[in-house]
Amino acid sequence: MKIWVDRLKSEPEPISYAPGAEWWRERFEEDSGGEICLVEPPVFQASVALKGDEVDLRGGFEATLETECGRCLRRYRLPLQDSFHLGLDPYGESVDLDPEGLQSLAKVGICLGEELDSGWYKGNELELDGFLTELISLALPLQFICSEDCLGLCSQCGIDRSQASCECKMPKPKSPFAVLEALREKETGSS
Ligand SMILES: [Zn+2]
Ligand SMILES: [Zn+2]
Repeated sequence: MKIWVDRLKSEPEPISYAPGAEWWRERFEEDSGGEICLVEPPVFQASVALKGDEVDLRGGFEATLETECGRCLRRYRLPLQDSFHLGLDPYGESVDLDPEGLQSLAKVGICLGEELDSGWYKGNELELDGFLTELISLALPLQFICSEDCLGLCSQCGIDRSQASCECKMPKPKSPFAVLEALREKETGSS
């Protein structure tokens, strides 16, 4: 998605961007080892304005993915969406950027701050695809779970415990929390 600073107005104007499945594949599918499939390609909808000399971009995006639940191994659909607000200030000598930031300014016309809500621009033609890619990356969950209530597979017989139950005895959990819990139970039990 490109914007041209000299075409912006002080009143917000709508822009939309639907880069398609190929765009997605180039950026995400290889990283995920094919585990994440795209069902609906991302659509970005935003409004952009020039406020003084600050480029103000705000909006959101939507996409639908399909992936595998880390607990029960079922494939499920994952709607992905997020909103954003990015303010870009003109780059000037007083801004202290690292070489990577300067390179980004030269290459795509923008350099993002750490929080993805601010940054700098230089020149007239600003390429925002890198920003949009970062947005999607941040919206992806760290763990893919089909539902908060998913009970996962039984570690003994492999049955999907959200769908059916079994008589297997669960091995004692050995996490530090479980140990603490056991200690606490012992204490309250003895007092
Ligand atoms: Zn699941
Ligand atoms: Zn079982």
